[in-house]
Amino acid sequence: MRARSQWRVSLADLLGTGRALVGSWPKLEVSRSAAMEGLEVTGSSVPAGALVEAKLTLEAVQHGVIVAGKVSAPWQGECRRCLEVARGTLDIDVRELFCEEGVASTHGSASGASRGASGASRGASLEGELLVGSELAYAFSGDEIDLAPLVRDAVLLNLPAAPLCGEGCLGLCPSCGIDLNRESCDCDRNGYDERWAPLAALRFDEGRS
Ligand SMILES: [Zn+2]
Ligand SMILES: [Zn+2]
Repeated sequence: MRARSQWRVSLADLLGTGRALVGSWPKLEVSRSAAMEGLEVTGSSVPAGALVEAKLTLEAVQHGVIVAGKVSAPWQGECRRCLEVARGTLDIDVRELFCEEGVASTHGSASGASRGASGASRGASLEGELLVGSELAYAFSGDEIDLAPLVRDAVLLNLPAAPLCGEGCLGLCPSCGIDLNRESCDCDRNGYDERWAPLAALRFDEGRS
């Protein structure tokens, strides 16, 4: 097989005969699982090599395709309270419109700046977004749709910026600094050594914006 992105889907079956149909639009079920580079925000990331999964339904509509379903991926980061590894799984509902490039521009709106396509060769237009009316849409041209920008955006928007290893994480003792999930200490956490006061004033769990 050629080195071809696993996120590209041929629309031949979906659009080939379907366009002539009146009434119900054809649908295509797509299931993909592949690693994706660079899924990282401040606070967490999808581990390198981990599989991102997408179970999506592509539905042809006039001048475009609606892509809806689930995107899932494992993530890990640093717990904001105890600084240990925090992990979890993203399970994201998506529903996005893909528009044919030429058609979208006839709606009169400017084409949006492409995102996530920097450095890409001539595929930039494929990766871009279009503004259709007031709605942002992904662009496609020809009989192939690239799901990667949708999957990437969904994951990046949902990765936790300030993760917790668990809802009940006890964090670190503000006085002696031990991990209260593993050990206990005799510190009086109401009247601890004042030299630590500036540290205790640091908040790891709240007020993060
Ligand atoms: Zn924790
Ligand atoms: Zn302590």
